[in-house]
Amino acid sequence: MGRTSYSSLRDFLNPDDSIPDHARPAMQAFMHLASIVAWVTRDMYPGVMRTNVFCRRSHRGVRCTGVITAVYETAQARIFWQCPVCGEQGYIDNWEHTPWDRRDGAHAGPTMN
Ligand SMILES: [Zn+2]
Repeated sequence: MGRTSYSSLRDFLNPDDSIPDHARPAMQAFMHLASIVAWVTRDMYPGVMRTNVFCRRSHRGVRCTGVITAVYETAQARIFWQCPVCGEQGYIDNWEHTPWDRRDGAHAGPTMN
């Protein structure tokens, strides 16, 4: 089983929703999460969604080939994502009304893919 991470999308953003000058690892982590948020909020499908976001994990230098699946948990307004290959998983909170929240059909910020 992979690790479970708990992330707040807003922790990566300035108060005005701009993106600070993150170091590369933090920026990659942020783009990964933002891409998942953009995918999930585009459809708000009531079940498990297969996203277009690849797993970020590497094992001994070999990149995981998994494609992230995600579920929107309505009660907590929280997104749960998981890699079906390596089991890496996590929760994303505080994504609402960020530029990657596509529920109102707004143009999303940059995504990884
Ligand atoms: Zn994986």
